[in-house]
Amino acid sequence: MDGSTNGAHGRHGAPRGNGWGAVGKVGSSFRASVPGRNGTNGTNGSSKIRGYSAWHLFQHGLSNAEWPRNWREHDLADSYDVVIIGGGVHGLATAYYLAVNHGITNVAVLEKAYIGSGGSGRNTAILRSNYLTPEGVRFYDRSVKLYEHLAADLNFNVMFSQRGHMTLAHNDSSLRTMRWRAEVNKAQGVDSDVIGPDKIKELVPYMDTSSYARYPILGALYHPPGGIVRHDAVVWGYARGADLHGVHIHQKTKVTGIDVVGGRVTGVQTDRGRISAPVVVNCTAGWSTLISDMAGVEMPVQTFPLQAAVTEPVKPFLDTVVVSGTLHVYVSQTDRGELVFGASVDPFASYSNRASLEFTEGLGGHVLELMPSLSKMRLLRQWAGLCDMTPDYSPIMGPTDVDGFYVDVGWGTYGFKAGPVSGEAMAACVADGRPPEIISAFGLDRFADGRLVGEKGAAAVGH
Ligand SMILES: Cc1cc2nc3c(=O)[nH]c(=O)nc-3n(C[C@H](O)[C@H](O)[C@H](O)COP(=O)(O)OP(=O)(O)OC[C@H]3O[C@@H](n4cnc5c(N)ncnc54)[C@H](O)[C@@H]3O)c2cc1C
Repeated sequence: MDGSTNGAHGRHGAPRGNGWGAVGKVGSSFRASVPGRNGTNGTNGSSKIRGYSAWHLFQHGLSNAEWPRNWREHDLADSYDVVIIGGGVHGLATAYYLAVNHGITNVAVLEKAYIGSGGSGRNTAILRSNYLTPEGVRFYDRSVKLYEHLAADLNFNVMFSQRGHMTLAHNDSSLRTMRWRAEVNKAQGVDSDVIGPDKIKELVPYMDTSSYARYPILGALYHPPGGIVRHDAVVWGYARGADLHGVHIHQKTKVTGIDVVGGRVTGVQTDRGRISAPVVVNCTAGWSTLISDMAGVEMPVQTFPLQAAVTEPVKPFLDTVVVSGTLHVYVSQTDRGELVFGASVDPFASYSNRASLEFTEGLGGHVLELMPSLSKMRLLRQWAGLCDMTPDYSPIMGPTDVDGFYVDVGWGTYGFKAGPVSGEAMAACVADGRPPEIISAFGLDRFADGRLVGEKGAAAVGH
Protein backbone atom coordinates (compact mmCIF):
# COMPACT_ATOMS: atom_id res chain seq x y z
CA MET A 1 0.00 0.00 0.00
CA ASP A 2 2.47 2.54 -1.11
CA GLY A 3 1.13 6.05 -1.01
CA SER A 4 3.28 7.12 -3.92
CA THR A 5 0.12 7.53 -5.97
CA ASN A 6 0.13 11.22 -5.22
CA GLY A 7 1.69 13.21 -7.96
CA ALA A 8 2.45 16.91 -8.00
CA HIS A 9 -0.62 18.63 -9.32
CA GLY A 10 0.26 22.08 -8.14
CA ARG A 11 -1.19 23.88 -5.19
CA HIS A 12 -4.85 24.14 -4.46
CA GLY A 13 -6.61 27.05 -6.06
CA ALA A 14 -8.05 28.26 -2.77
CA PRO A 15 -5.75 30.45 -0.66
CA ARG A 16 -4.53 28.84 2.54
CA GLY A 17 -5.68 29.96 5.94
CA ASN A 18 -8.57 31.83 4.43
CA GLY A 19 -10.21 33.63 7.22
CA TRP A 20 -9.88 31.64 10.39
CA GLY A 21 -7.21 31.34 12.95
CA ALA A 22 -4.34 33.50 11.74
CA VAL A 23 -1.18 31.53 12.36
CA GLY A 24 0.21 31.93 15.83
CA LYS A 25 -3.10 33.31 17.02
CA VAL A 26 -4.40 30.87 19.56
CA GLY A 27 -6.97 30.36 22.28
CA SER A 28 -10.37 31.95 21.97
CA SER A 29 -9.44 33.99 18.89
CA PHE A 30 -8.41 30.75 17.19
CA ARG A 31 -11.76 29.15 17.79
CA ALA A 32 -13.89 32.21 17.27
CA SER A 33 -12.68 32.73 13.73
CA VAL A 34 -13.65 29.31 12.42
CA PRO A 35 -16.11 29.78 9.57
CA GLY A 36 -18.59 27.00 9.23
CA ARG A 37 -18.09 25.87 12.79
CA ASN A 38 -21.19 24.13 14.17
CA GLY A 39 -21.95 22.95 10.71
CA THR A 40 -22.68 26.25 8.93
CA ASN A 41 -20.30 25.40 6.12
CA GLY A 42 -20.00 21.80 7.15
CA THR A 43 -21.91 18.85 5.86
CA ASN A 44 -21.63 16.49 8.81
CA GLY A 45 -19.60 14.09 6.78
CA SER A 46 -22.30 13.34 4.29
CA SER A 47 -21.08 15.50 1.40
CA LYS A 48 -20.61 13.83 -1.93
CA ILE A 49 -17.17 14.46 -3.34
CA ARG A 50 -15.76 14.12 -6.85
CA GLY A 51 -16.96 10.72 -7.81
CA TYR A 52 -16.15 7.53 -9.58
CA SER A 53 -19.33 7.17 -11.58
CA ALA A 54 -19.63 4.22 -13.95
CA TRP A 55 -19.86 6.71 -16.82
CA HIS A 56 -16.66 8.53 -15.81
CA LEU A 57 -14.77 5.26 -15.43
CA PHE A 58 -15.94 4.11 -18.86
CA GLN A 59 -15.14 7.47 -20.46
CA HIS A 60 -11.73 7.64 -18.85
CA GLY A 61 -10.93 4.03 -19.73
CA LEU A 62 -11.47 4.83 -23.40
CA SER A 63 -9.45 8.06 -23.29
CA ASN A 64 -6.09 6.38 -22.62
CA ALA A 65 -5.24 9.38 -20.40
CA GLU A 66 -3.41 8.99 -17.08
CA TRP A 67 -5.69 8.34 -14.11
CA PRO A 68 -5.93 11.34 -11.79
CA ARG A 69 -3.99 11.14 -8.53
CA ASN A 70 -6.06 10.55 -5.40
CA TRP A 71 -4.16 13.08 -3.32
CA ARG A 72 -1.55 15.64 -4.22
CA GLU A 73 1.90 16.69 -3.14
CA HIS A 74 2.40 20.21 -1.80
CA ASP A 75 5.27 22.33 -0.65
CA LEU A 76 5.54 22.32 3.12
CA ALA A 77 4.05 25.63 4.31
CA ASP A 78 5.65 27.60 7.16
CA SER A 79 2.45 27.45 9.14
CA TYR A 80 -0.89 25.69 9.38
CA ASP A 81 -3.88 26.22 11.64
CA VAL A 82 -3.83 22.54 12.60
CA VAL A 83 -0.97 20.04 12.29
CA ILE A 84 -1.92 16.38 12.60
CA ILE A 85 0.94 13.97 13.24
CA GLY A 86 0.35 10.51 11.75
CA GLY A 87 -1.11 9.53 8.38
CA GLY A 88 -3.16 6.56 9.52
CA VAL A 89 -6.94 6.31 9.53
CA HIS A 90 -7.19 8.47 12.67
CA GLY A 91 -5.07 11.36 11.41
CA LEU A 92 -6.66 11.35 7.95
CA ALA A 93 -10.23 11.03 9.27
CA THR A 94 -9.63 13.91 11.71
CA ALA A 95 -8.34 16.07 8.85
CA TYR A 96 -11.29 15.08 6.66
CA TYR A 97 -13.95 15.90 9.27
CA LEU A 98 -12.19 19.15 10.26
CA ALA A 99 -12.59 20.25 6.66
CA VAL A 100 -16.00 18.79 5.90
CA ASN A 101 -17.84 19.32 9.20
CA HIS A 102 -16.14 22.50 10.42
CA GLY A 103 -14.75 24.27 7.37
CA ILE A 104 -11.22 24.11 8.83
CA THR A 105 -9.04 23.42 5.83
CA ASN A 106 -5.65 24.97 6.59
CA VAL A 107 -4.57 21.61 7.93
CA ALA A 108 -1.47 19.47 7.40
CA VAL A 109 -1.17 15.73 8.00
CA LEU A 110 2.49 14.84 8.58
CA GLU A 111 3.46 11.23 7.97
CA LYS A 112 7.03 10.00 8.45
CA ALA A 113 6.69 7.18 5.89
CA TYR A 114 3.66 6.71 3.60
CA ILE A 115 0.01 6.93 4.58
CA GLY A 116 -1.28 3.67 6.01
CA SER A 117 2.22 2.40 6.77
CA GLY A 118 1.37 2.02 10.47
CA GLY A 119 -1.40 -0.07 12.01
CA SER A 120 -3.91 1.26 9.48
CA GLY A 121 -2.34 -0.76 6.66
CA ARG A 122 -1.46 -3.78 8.79
CA ASN A 123 -4.65 -4.60 10.67
CA THR A 124 -7.12 -7.41 10.07
CA ALA A 125 -9.93 -4.94 9.40
CA ILE A 126 -12.54 -6.29 11.81
CA LEU A 127 -15.36 -3.87 12.68
CA ARG A 128 -17.85 -4.35 15.51
CA SER A 129 -19.46 -2.51 18.40
CA ASN A 130 -20.24 -5.29 20.92
CA TYR A 131 -18.01 -3.89 23.68
CA LEU A 132 -18.37 -4.25 27.44
CA THR A 133 -18.98 -0.74 28.79
CA PRO A 134 -21.88 1.55 27.79
CA GLU A 135 -19.33 4.26 26.87
CA GLY A 136 -17.45 1.85 24.62
CA VAL A 137 -20.57 0.39 22.99
CA ARG A 138 -22.00 3.85 22.17
CA PHE A 139 -18.67 5.02 20.76
CA TYR A 140 -17.96 2.01 18.53
CA ASP A 141 -21.60 1.82 17.43
CA ARG A 142 -21.35 5.37 16.06
CA SER A 143 -18.29 4.22 14.11
CA VAL A 144 -20.09 1.21 12.63
CA LYS A 145 -22.92 3.55 11.59
CA LEU A 146 -20.43 5.90 9.92
CA TYR A 147 -18.78 2.93 8.19
CA GLU A 148 -22.17 1.85 6.83
CA HIS A 149 -22.32 5.09 4.79
CA LEU A 150 -18.61 5.66 4.31
CA ALA A 151 -18.39 4.39 0.73
CA ALA A 152 -21.15 6.80 -0.27
CA ASP A 153 -19.77 9.72 1.78
CA LEU A 154 -16.24 9.33 0.39
CA ASN A 155 -17.41 8.12 -3.00
CA PHE A 156 -14.82 5.39 -2.65
CA ASN A 157 -15.62 1.70 -2.27
CA VAL A 158 -14.39 0.64 1.18
CA MET A 159 -15.92 -2.85 0.82
CA PHE A 160 -17.59 -2.99 4.23
CA SER A 161 -19.10 -6.46 4.53
CA GLN A 162 -21.41 -6.89 7.53
CA ARG A 163 -21.21 -10.65 7.77
CA GLY A 164 -21.55 -11.07 11.54
CA HIS A 165 -19.00 -11.44 14.33
CA MET A 166 -18.85 -14.36 16.77
CA THR A 167 -16.84 -14.51 20.01
CA LEU A 168 -16.59 -18.06 21.34
CA ALA A 169 -16.87 -19.04 25.00
CA HIS A 170 -14.97 -22.17 26.06
CA ASN A 171 -15.65 -21.95 29.79
CA ASP A 172 -18.28 -20.74 32.25
CA SER A 173 -16.58 -17.47 33.10
CA SER A 174 -16.32 -16.52 29.40
CA LEU A 175 -19.97 -17.39 28.93
CA ARG A 176 -20.87 -15.14 31.85
CA THR A 177 -18.91 -12.27 30.30
CA MET A 178 -20.69 -12.87 26.95
CA ARG A 179 -24.08 -12.66 28.66
CA TRP A 180 -23.04 -9.48 30.40
CA ARG A 181 -21.84 -7.96 27.14
CA ALA A 182 -25.03 -8.99 25.34
CA GLU A 183 -27.15 -7.18 27.95
CA VAL A 184 -25.00 -4.01 27.83
CA ASN A 185 -25.11 -4.13 24.01
CA LYS A 186 -28.88 -4.53 23.89
CA ALA A 187 -29.38 -1.71 26.39
CA GLN A 188 -27.49 0.53 23.93
CA GLY A 189 -29.58 -0.71 20.99
CA VAL A 190 -26.81 -2.87 19.51
CA ASP A 191 -27.76 -6.22 17.96
CA SER A 192 -25.91 -8.85 20.02
CA ASP A 193 -26.92 -12.13 21.66
CA VAL A 194 -25.54 -15.33 23.17
CA ILE A 195 -26.04 -18.40 20.96
CA GLY A 196 -25.46 -22.12 21.64
CA PRO A 197 -23.30 -24.73 19.86
CA ASP A 198 -26.11 -25.80 17.47
CA LYS A 199 -26.53 -22.29 16.10
CA ILE A 200 -22.74 -21.89 15.94
CA LYS A 201 -22.48 -25.07 13.86
CA GLU A 202 -25.21 -23.80 11.58
CA LEU A 203 -23.36 -20.51 11.02
CA VAL A 204 -19.86 -22.07 10.76
CA PRO A 205 -20.23 -25.72 9.63
CA TYR A 206 -16.45 -26.32 9.66
CA MET A 207 -16.13 -25.53 13.36
CA ASP A 208 -15.52 -28.41 15.75
CA THR A 209 -18.42 -27.97 18.20
CA SER A 210 -18.17 -31.51 19.58
CA SER A 211 -17.73 -32.16 23.29
CA TYR A 212 -14.49 -34.09 22.52
CA ALA A 213 -12.57 -30.92 21.62
CA ARG A 214 -9.76 -29.99 24.00
CA TYR A 215 -11.52 -26.67 24.68
CA PRO A 216 -15.20 -27.46 23.98
CA ILE A 217 -17.31 -24.55 22.73
CA LEU A 218 -20.08 -23.75 25.20
CA GLY A 219 -21.60 -20.81 23.36
CA ALA A 220 -20.77 -17.54 21.62
CA LEU A 221 -21.62 -13.87 21.60
CA TYR A 222 -23.08 -13.31 18.14
CA HIS A 223 -23.14 -9.77 16.71
CA PRO A 224 -24.71 -9.57 13.22
CA PRO A 225 -23.64 -5.95 12.37
CA GLY A 226 -19.93 -6.81 12.78
CA GLY A 227 -17.80 -7.59 9.75
CA ILE A 228 -14.72 -6.68 7.77
CA VAL A 229 -13.70 -3.76 5.60
CA ARG A 230 -10.90 -3.10 3.07
CA HIS A 231 -8.51 -1.21 5.34
CA ASP A 232 -6.33 0.45 2.72
CA ALA A 233 -9.41 1.65 0.81
CA VAL A 234 -10.54 3.41 4.00
CA VAL A 235 -7.15 5.12 4.31
CA TRP A 236 -7.08 6.11 0.64
CA GLY A 237 -10.72 7.25 0.73
CA TYR A 238 -10.12 9.58 3.67
CA ALA A 239 -6.88 10.86 2.12
CA ARG A 240 -8.64 11.60 -1.13
CA GLY A 241 -11.56 13.28 0.65
CA ALA A 242 -9.29 15.40 2.86
CA ASP A 243 -7.17 16.42 -0.15
CA LEU A 244 -10.22 17.44 -2.14
CA HIS A 245 -11.29 19.70 0.73
CA GLY A 246 -7.90 21.45 0.84
CA VAL A 247 -5.92 19.48 3.44
CA HIS A 248 -2.18 19.06 2.76
CA ILE A 249 -0.89 15.50 3.17
CA HIS A 250 2.89 15.41 3.59
CA GLN A 251 4.38 11.93 3.38
CA LYS A 252 8.04 11.27 4.22
CA THR A 253 7.86 14.11 6.75
CA LYS A 254 8.97 13.07 10.21
CA VAL A 255 8.18 15.14 13.30
CA THR A 256 11.34 15.43 15.39
CA GLY A 257 10.21 17.91 18.05
CA ILE A 258 7.24 19.88 19.38
CA ASP A 259 7.65 23.51 20.39
CA VAL A 260 5.92 24.50 23.61
CA VAL A 261 6.17 28.05 24.95
CA GLY A 262 4.58 29.00 28.27
CA GLY A 263 2.48 25.85 28.41
CA ARG A 264 1.13 26.30 24.87
CA VAL A 265 2.06 24.54 21.68
CA THR A 266 3.49 26.81 18.97
CA GLY A 267 4.58 24.40 16.27
CA VAL A 268 6.51 21.31 15.30
CA GLN A 269 10.03 20.57 14.12
CA THR A 270 10.32 18.17 11.19
CA ASP A 271 13.13 16.68 9.16
CA ARG A 272 12.01 19.11 6.41
CA GLY A 273 11.92 22.24 8.58
CA ARG A 274 9.81 23.96 11.23
CA ILE A 275 6.07 24.52 10.99
CA SER A 276 4.16 27.00 13.19
CA ALA A 277 0.80 25.79 14.42
CA PRO A 278 -1.42 26.70 17.37
CA VAL A 279 -2.95 23.21 17.35
CA VAL A 280 -1.10 19.89 17.09
CA VAL A 281 -2.91 16.54 17.20
CA ASN A 282 -1.01 13.34 18.04
CA CYS A 283 -2.45 10.45 15.97
CA THR A 284 0.57 8.17 15.98
CA ALA A 285 -0.75 5.03 17.74
CA GLY A 286 2.29 2.75 18.33
CA TRP A 287 4.65 5.76 18.39
CA SER A 288 2.34 7.97 20.45
CA THR A 289 4.42 8.15 23.63
CA LEU A 290 7.48 9.25 21.64
CA ILE A 291 5.47 12.16 20.21
CA SER A 292 3.75 13.10 23.48
CA ASP A 293 7.13 13.06 25.24
CA MET A 294 8.24 15.78 22.79
CA ALA A 295 5.49 18.01 24.21
CA GLY A 296 6.28 16.98 27.79
CA VAL A 297 3.01 15.04 28.16
CA GLU A 298 3.33 11.67 29.87
CA MET A 299 0.88 8.95 28.89
CA PRO A 300 0.17 5.53 30.40
CA VAL A 301 0.78 3.73 27.11
CA GLN A 302 3.10 0.83 26.29
CA THR A 303 3.85 -0.32 22.76
CA PHE A 304 3.58 -4.01 21.86
CA PRO A 305 3.84 -5.78 18.48
CA LEU A 306 0.77 -7.58 17.18
CA GLN A 307 1.09 -10.21 14.47
CA ALA A 308 -1.26 -11.49 11.79
CA ALA A 309 -1.11 -13.92 8.86
CA VAL A 310 -2.97 -14.72 5.67
CA THR A 311 -3.42 -17.98 3.72
CA GLU A 312 -3.67 -18.71 0.03
CA PRO A 313 -7.19 -18.02 -1.32
CA VAL A 314 -9.78 -20.81 -1.28
CA LYS A 315 -13.47 -20.96 -2.19
CA PRO A 316 -15.70 -19.02 0.20
CA PHE A 317 -16.76 -21.19 3.16
CA LEU A 318 -16.56 -18.87 6.18
CA ASP A 319 -19.29 -16.21 6.31
CA THR A 320 -18.63 -14.98 9.83
CA VAL A 321 -15.73 -13.47 11.76
CA VAL A 322 -14.78 -16.00 14.48
CA VAL A 323 -12.85 -15.05 17.62
CA SER A 324 -11.67 -17.24 20.50
CA GLY A 325 -10.25 -15.30 23.43
CA THR A 326 -9.31 -18.52 25.24
CA LEU A 327 -7.32 -19.83 22.27
CA HIS A 328 -5.92 -16.36 21.47
CA VAL A 329 -6.92 -16.57 17.83
CA TYR A 330 -9.41 -15.11 15.36
CA VAL A 331 -10.17 -15.74 11.70
CA SER A 332 -12.17 -14.24 8.83
CA GLN A 333 -12.28 -14.90 5.09
CA THR A 334 -11.72 -12.02 2.68
CA ASP A 335 -13.76 -11.45 -0.45
CA ARG A 336 -10.74 -12.82 -2.37
CA GLY A 337 -10.96 -16.09 -0.40
CA GLU A 338 -7.87 -15.76 1.83
CA LEU A 339 -8.20 -16.61 5.50
CA VAL A 340 -6.90 -13.80 7.71
CA PHE A 341 -5.69 -14.84 11.16
CA GLY A 342 -4.69 -12.83 14.18
CA ALA A 343 -3.96 -13.27 17.86
CA SER A 344 -3.23 -11.21 20.95
CA VAL A 345 -0.18 -8.94 21.26
CA ASP A 346 3.31 -10.37 21.71
CA PRO A 347 4.10 -10.87 25.40
CA PHE A 348 6.84 -8.22 25.50
CA ALA A 349 6.92 -4.48 24.81
CA SER A 350 8.87 -3.60 21.66
CA TYR A 351 8.93 -1.37 18.58
CA SER A 352 9.76 -4.31 16.32
CA ASN A 353 7.68 -4.82 13.20
CA ARG A 354 9.10 -8.30 12.60
CA ALA A 355 6.93 -11.40 12.57
CA SER A 356 8.06 -14.56 14.40
CA LEU A 357 8.00 -18.34 13.96
CA GLU A 358 6.72 -18.68 17.52
CA PHE A 359 3.55 -16.82 16.48
CA THR A 360 2.98 -19.07 13.45
CA GLU A 361 3.41 -22.25 15.49
CA GLY A 362 0.98 -21.09 18.18
CA LEU A 363 -1.49 -19.86 15.58
CA GLY A 364 -1.43 -23.14 13.63
CA GLY A 365 -2.14 -25.20 16.76
CA HIS A 366 -4.97 -22.97 17.91
CA VAL A 367 -6.67 -22.67 14.53
CA LEU A 368 -6.69 -26.45 14.12
CA GLU A 369 -8.32 -26.82 17.54
CA LEU A 370 -11.25 -24.84 16.14
CA MET A 371 -11.32 -26.06 12.54
CA PRO A 372 -9.30 -29.28 12.08
CA SER A 373 -10.19 -29.43 8.38
CA LEU A 374 -7.92 -26.44 7.65
CA SER A 375 -4.80 -28.56 8.19
CA LYS A 376 -3.87 -28.56 4.50
CA MET A 377 -4.09 -24.80 4.01
CA ARG A 378 -0.88 -22.93 3.32
CA LEU A 379 0.08 -19.62 4.89
CA LEU A 380 0.98 -17.01 2.29
CA ARG A 381 2.58 -14.42 4.54
CA GLN A 382 2.67 -12.96 8.04
CA TRP A 383 3.48 -9.53 9.39
CA ALA A 384 3.41 -7.37 12.52
CA GLY A 385 2.35 -3.88 13.55
CA LEU A 386 2.66 -1.75 16.67
CA CYS A 387 -0.11 -1.38 19.23
CA ASP A 388 -0.35 1.37 21.86
CA MET A 389 -1.86 -0.41 24.85
CA THR A 390 -3.51 1.47 27.74
CA PRO A 391 -4.16 -0.04 31.19
CA ASP A 392 -7.95 -0.22 30.65
CA TYR A 393 -7.97 -1.14 26.93
CA SER A 394 -9.78 2.11 26.07
CA PRO A 395 -8.37 5.02 24.04
CA ILE A 396 -7.04 8.35 25.25
CA MET A 397 -8.68 11.24 23.40
CA GLY A 398 -8.91 14.99 23.82
CA PRO A 399 -6.92 17.93 25.17
CA THR A 400 -3.85 17.69 27.40
CA ASP A 401 -2.23 19.97 29.96
CA VAL A 402 -0.34 21.64 27.09
CA ASP A 403 -2.73 24.10 25.44
CA GLY A 404 -3.30 23.26 21.80
CA PHE A 405 -1.78 19.77 22.08
CA TYR A 406 -4.42 17.08 21.59
CA VAL A 407 -4.10 13.30 21.65
CA ASP A 408 -6.04 10.58 19.83
CA VAL A 409 -4.11 7.50 20.91
CA GLY A 410 -4.27 4.28 22.93
CA TRP A 411 -5.78 2.35 20.04
CA GLY A 412 -4.20 -0.93 20.97
CA THR A 413 -5.39 -3.87 18.89
CA TYR A 414 -8.85 -2.41 18.18
CA GLY A 415 -8.47 1.11 16.76
CA PHE A 416 -9.14 0.67 13.07
CA LYS A 417 -12.86 0.27 13.62
CA ALA A 418 -12.82 3.56 15.54
CA GLY A 419 -11.30 5.62 12.70
CA PRO A 420 -14.49 7.36 11.53
CA VAL A 421 -15.97 8.18 14.95
CA SER A 422 -12.58 9.28 16.27
CA GLY A 423 -12.02 11.55 13.30
CA GLU A 424 -15.47 13.04 13.73
CA ALA A 425 -15.06 13.52 17.50
CA MET A 426 -11.48 14.84 17.38
CA ALA A 427 -12.46 17.33 14.68
CA ALA A 428 -15.30 18.56 16.90
CA CYS A 429 -12.94 18.67 19.88
CA VAL A 430 -10.42 20.85 18.00
CA ALA A 431 -13.11 23.09 16.50
CA ASP A 432 -14.97 23.62 19.78
CA GLY A 433 -11.97 23.43 22.12
CA ARG A 434 -13.59 20.75 24.29
CA PRO A 435 -14.34 17.03 23.86
CA PRO A 436 -17.82 16.13 22.59
CA GLU A 437 -19.93 13.91 24.86
CA ILE A 438 -19.17 10.73 22.90
CA ILE A 439 -15.48 10.82 23.94
CA SER A 440 -15.84 12.54 27.32
CA ALA A 441 -15.09 9.27 29.17
CA PHE A 442 -11.77 8.78 27.33
CA GLY A 443 -9.80 11.80 28.60
CA LEU A 444 -6.20 11.48 29.81
CA ASP A 445 -7.28 12.77 33.23
CA ARG A 446 -9.24 9.55 33.93
CA PHE A 447 -6.03 7.81 35.01
CA ALA A 448 -5.34 10.44 37.69
CA ASP A 449 -9.01 10.48 38.77
CA GLY A 450 -9.39 6.68 38.79
CA ARG A 451 -12.28 6.65 36.29
CA LEU A 452 -11.08 3.80 34.08
CA VAL A 453 -13.24 2.47 31.24
CA GLY A 454 -12.39 -1.24 31.55
CA GLU A 455 -12.72 -2.96 28.18
CA LYS A 456 -10.27 -5.83 28.63
CA GLY A 457 -13.10 -8.40 28.61
CA ALA A 458 -14.13 -7.23 25.13
CA ALA A 459 -10.91 -6.01 23.54
CA ALA A 460 -7.98 -8.23 24.54
CA VAL A 461 -8.12 -10.59 21.53
CA GLY A 462 -11.34 -9.90 19.68
CA HIS A 463 -10.24 -6.88 17.69
C1 LIG B 1 -1.81 -7.07 13.11
C2 LIG B 1 -2.84 -6.07 13.56
C3 LIG B 1 -4.19 -6.40 13.50
C4 LIG B 1 -5.15 -5.47 13.90
N1 LIG B 1 -6.47 -5.78 13.72
C5 LIG B 1 -7.41 -4.86 13.99
C6 LIG B 1 -8.78 -5.15 13.68
O1 LIG B 1 -9.11 -6.21 13.17
N2 LIG B 1 -9.70 -4.19 13.97
C7 LIG B 1 -9.36 -2.99 14.53
O2 LIG B 1 -10.26 -2.17 14.78
N3 LIG B 1 -8.06 -2.68 14.80
C8 LIG B 1 -7.09 -3.58 14.54
N4 LIG B 1 -5.77 -3.30 14.79
C9 LIG B 1 -5.42 -2.02 15.42
C10 LIG B 1 -5.41 -0.90 14.39
O3 LIG B 1 -4.63 -1.26 13.27
C11 LIG B 1 -4.84 0.40 14.99
O4 LIG B 1 -5.40 0.64 16.25
C12 LIG B 1 -5.17 1.58 14.09
O5 LIG B 1 -4.81 1.32 12.76
C13 LIG B 1 -4.47 2.83 14.59
O6 LIG B 1 -4.65 3.82 13.60
P1 LIG B 1 -3.91 5.21 13.73
O7 LIG B 1 -4.31 6.01 12.56
O8 LIG B 1 -4.15 5.77 15.09
O9 LIG B 1 -2.37 4.83 13.71
P2 LIG B 1 -1.42 4.25 12.55
O10 LIG B 1 -2.18 3.70 11.42
O11 LIG B 1 -0.42 3.37 13.22
O12 LIG B 1 -0.73 5.56 12.03
C14 LIG B 1 0.21 6.26 12.80
C15 LIG B 1 1.17 6.87 11.82
O13 LIG B 1 2.03 7.78 12.53
C16 LIG B 1 3.24 7.81 11.81
N5 LIG B 1 4.29 8.39 12.66
C17 LIG B 1 4.85 7.86 13.75
N6 LIG B 1 5.80 8.66 14.24
C18 LIG B 1 5.82 9.75 13.44
C19 LIG B 1 6.59 10.94 13.42
N7 LIG B 1 7.57 11.17 14.33
N8 LIG B 1 6.35 11.86 12.46
C20 LIG B 1 5.39 11.65 11.52
N9 LIG B 1 4.64 10.52 11.48
C21 LIG B 1 4.85 9.59 12.44
C22 LIG B 1 3.48 6.35 11.46
O14 LIG B 1 4.37 6.20 10.38
C23 LIG B 1 2.08 5.85 11.14
O15 LIG B 1 1.79 5.82 9.76
C24 LIG B 1 -4.77 -4.21 14.42
C25 LIG B 1 -3.41 -3.88 14.50
C26 LIG B 1 -2.45 -4.79 14.06
C27 LIG B 1 -1.01 -4.40 14.13
